[in-house]
Amino acid sequence: MPKESTNKKPKASKGYETLASFALPRRPKPDLFAWTKPFQLRISQIEEAGHNLSRRVMLSENGNRVLVEDSTSNTEREMIMMGSNSYLGLNNHPRVKKAAIEAIEKYGTGAGSPPHFSGYFDIHRKLEKNITWLKGSEAAIIFPSGYSTNVGLISCFMGPKDTIILDKLAHASIIDGALLSGVKIVTYLHNNMESLERALISTKKNTEGDRLVVVEGVYSMDGDIAPLDEIYALTEKHGAKLMVDEAHSTGVLGKTGRGATEHYNLDGKIDLVMGTFSKSLGGVGGFVAAKKEIIQYLRFYSRAYFFAASPSPSQVAAQNEAVNVLREEPIWHKRLMENITYFHTQLRENNYDIGDTITPITPLEIGEPVKLLSIARFFNDNNVFVNPVPFPAVPRKKDRLRFSVTALHTKKDLDEVLEVLDAADKKFKIRKT
Ligand code: PMP
Repeated sequence: MPKESTNKKPKASKGYETLASFALPRRPKPDLFAWTKPFQLRISQIEEAGHNLSRRVMLSENGNRVLVEDSTSNTEREMIMMGSNSYLGLNNHPRVKKAAIEAIEKYGTGAGSPPHFSGYFDIHRKLEKNITWLKGSEAAIIFPSGYSTNVGLISCFMGPKDTIILDKLAHASIIDGALLSGVKIVTYLHNNMESLERALISTKKNTEGDRLVVVEGVYSMDGDIAPLDEIYALTEKHGAKLMVDEAHSTGVLGKTGRGATEHYNLDGKIDLVMGTFSKSLGGVGGFVAAKKEIIQYLRFYSRAYFFAASPSPSQVAAQNEAVNVLREEPIWHKRLMENITYFHTQLRENNYDIGDTITPITPLEIGEPVKLLSIARFFNDNNVFVNPVPFPAVPRKKDRLRFSVTALHTKKDLDEVLEVLDAADKKFKIRKT
């Protein structure tokens, strides 16, 4: 753990302190900013070692390839993009871009106000209607971000007398919604149905209010999927409500890419379906799809909706067109599936451990934080853009590279990535032995 700031260089440590080392609960002094100097020192040390790969500056569209600023040589480099969540590549689709441009010309840039005042345009209504198609729901509501959707949704309905039952790998935005609402939080082992059933049984007796189970269609750091059919049956059996976060499953799961409810044939059956526009739909924002009266209640009692400016018309128009493209151009979903199959087959046949993923999210566990950063640097220097994901974003000792396959990758792109991986393996020993 870093000492208080001095001008001395910190001693080299075996592994870098993680972001959690500098977080609020462990602040060494009452001073609000007590952590900022030691943290700055540590970041400088990481930068000096050439290990800082966060916030790489991109200079072109985020497609299968991307131009990236190389701060060490002051040059621009073309890299294969394996770090984007825009799984269908719709952020670059001509129809989506055209819709955004036309909306700016028609409505201007900002919505100008929250939705209850003057921030609700016909295009917002259109997008909400389109989401009801996407999720097979009665009604839908849109929020400025996926993060604020989870926070605003959970804190709208839950309070201290209720219990929220979360998978151990629940996303930060779900946890933050729970913390804000003061609800009792119970977790169960990742995707473990016996553990979930135990939680459902034990919470039945000691919950004065209601219980909500929250799961993710696709888990964002592992790429595996929730067994939603079994989870639905368990919540029905034990009388709890169910919410699914479709941030990463929208555009990916299901025969036509509509998501987890399509994949499991559960359209219209899950109490609360939330999703984001920031992954497969190539933009920013979030939504909830549910019964009419639930959506109406959210419009008035979800503070993240009521007190926040509406998403800009151009953004909303782009998202609306992205949903249209998903419906009308099945080629993108088909290409994504083909690329996932190709990439995963190559990796597994060559003895790389990518866990249980069946989705674009392809984790490669490295384990140690310093080794992870060295390998990520190696990829960077060989023109492959892949994100290192250390603790606390993933459990301790499960530090990993997170590759994302998209519909835009060519076989040549994926083969080049596999070649760089083999070269990295020779140097760093990544393969299973
Ligand atoms: N839920 C999950 C599962 C996520 O992975 C994310 C973001 N990565 C969010 C919600 C928040 O969405 P957004 O980034 O669109 O705000």
